[in-house]
Amino acid sequence: MLDVAVIGGGISGMTAAYSLRRRGYRVLVLERQAHIGGNAVSERREGFLMEHGPSTISADSPVAVEFSRELGLEGQRYNLGDGVRRRYLVSRGSLHGISTHPLGFLYSDYLSLGARLRLMAEMVVPRRRAMEPGEETVATFCARRFGAEFATRVIDPMVGGIYAARASEVSVAALFPKLVDLERRHGSVSGGILHRSRRGGTMPGSRLFSWRDGIGALPHALAVRLGEVVRTGVAVRRIEQRRGVFRLDLGKVGYLDARAVAIATQPHVVAQMLEGIDESAAAAAAGIDAPPLAVVFFGFRRQDVDHPLDGLGFLAAEDERRTLNGAQFCSTMFPGRAPQGSVALAAYFGGARAPDIARAPARELLDLAHREFRDLIGARGQPIVAMVRHWPMGLPQYRLGHRDRTTVLLETSQRHPGLFVTGNYFSGPSVVACVAQAMEIAARIHRFLGGQENAFISSPNWFGECQLVANGSEINLSKDRASA
Ligand SMILES: Cc1cc2nc3c(=O)[nH]c(=O)nc-3n(C[C@H](O)[C@H](O)[C@H](O)COP(=O)(O)OP(=O)(O)OC[C@H]3O[C@@H](n4cnc5c(N)ncnc54)[C@H](O)[C@@H]3O)c2cc1C
Repeated sequence: MLDVAVIGGGISGMTAAYSLRRRGYRVLVLERQAHIGGNAVSERREGFLMEHGPSTISADSPVAVEFSRELGLEGQRYNLGDGVRRRYLVSRGSLHGISTHPLGFLYSDYLSLGARLRLMAEMVVPRRRAMEPGEETVATFCARRFGAEFATRVIDPMVGGIYAARASEVSVAALFPKLVDLERRHGSVSGGILHRSRRGGTMPGSRLFSWRDGIGALPHALAVRLGEVVRTGVAVRRIEQRRGVFRLDLGKVGYLDARAVAIATQPHVVAQMLEGIDESAAAAAAGIDAPPLAVVFFGFRRQDVDHPLDGLGFLAAEDERRTLNGAQFCSTMFPGRAPQGSVALAAYFGGARAPDIARAPARELLDLAHREFRDLIGARGQPIVAMVRHWPMGLPQYRLGHRDRTTVLLETSQRHPGLFVTGNYFSGPSVVACVAQAMEIAARIHRFLGGQENAFISSPNWFGECQLVANGSEINLSKDRASA
């Protein structure tokens, strides 16, 4: 009997498992794919480091920095390179550079003079009354506070490029609760940020980092610490609850009993697993969609790209009608992303704006990305390397009503003690939010299991003793069999 079965070996599942192992529990991570990490896939090819999923981590929250230290990744940590001097936005078909200074938008003519004056007036816009009914979208909140032009020309590209969402569809309270809180507490967002920075806080989103081997270093470090308790190539088909024990159906591999289960998969998988166990939670999970995304990675010779590439990359507002949502100048962001004399670029397609583009065949996406880079940054000739990654389920959409859905999901453990759900659709889709949420769920599982702080088991070899029952006879779930 396991203490906890963790379903899903992405950052959420691996973090939850690590946190539970540290407390001494018998944990097993079951991952459907042949490799762990989920979205966090970093790949080296011909001297380039390609990030097929996440590429940056925010250091604004202490969780990320502390976790990096705890996992022994500090020596490999790279902060954003000095070459990042501007943020770029597409404006009428070409890139418009804006200083990364917090007041950069006020000095730039990317926004009209009227829009800049309106932006400055945010301080005096009255706060929304607590009594006012209706949940606000990010677009309505930002238009109300910062003005309509700022909302469509700055917030829309940010939400489209970073969250693969439409600002007019997602809930501000679910996706950016801090903005709502700043307005509520300080009467204005800029007033709240100023207040925070006077007390030593940083500007939101101002500090990003990665590691030498990319974001994939995080699940890798967790896998090293978890050792044998991570099983890849094992898909959980169903969960059954029997007299306080959870039985996991692993198909041909057999089945597994556990006192507690943490489901750390994409929401559509949660919906399938909870069907027949908890209909309200299954319906809530099914209500969270994650439109497809595609990432196109290019390595070019430096002399074949005209643009100075002196920024993180660029974002495009939807009304610019580009095929991509944005792009990153990967080799400017962090060292070691491209060989000497070359540059690394990544283009992001799809999400809520254009799910069909993300479903396009690789060849078509390569052509689209090539055309966009030619028009916007003057990329000429053929790339040295080119790679497409399709994500059929991209980022979860925090649409209106999202918090009601996640409340139902978080309460699964009240209706079915021992059954927990975690992932990137609770407190934000970022890696840091996944880590924090998974740690919180691990703490709740710990309380459920009895709550004593046990000693950390340094040798993870106990799994050898763990028996599975397949077709009526007991077997050891050896690594070979598990990945078969
Ligand atoms: C293209 C892209 C770019 C991104 N960029 C950034 C960024 O720069 N910074 C940032 O902070 N965040 C970024 N994100 C978001 C972040 O990477 C993700 O939100 C996060 O990695 C999700 O982790 P997770 O463990 O919750 O889910 P996932 O990574 O989706 O992991 C879920 C795991 O569950 C497994 N699974 C599913 N079904 C089963 C089953 N039946 N049995 C067993 N296992 C199963 C899956 O195979 C998968 O490995 C990006 C995401 C994408 C897609």
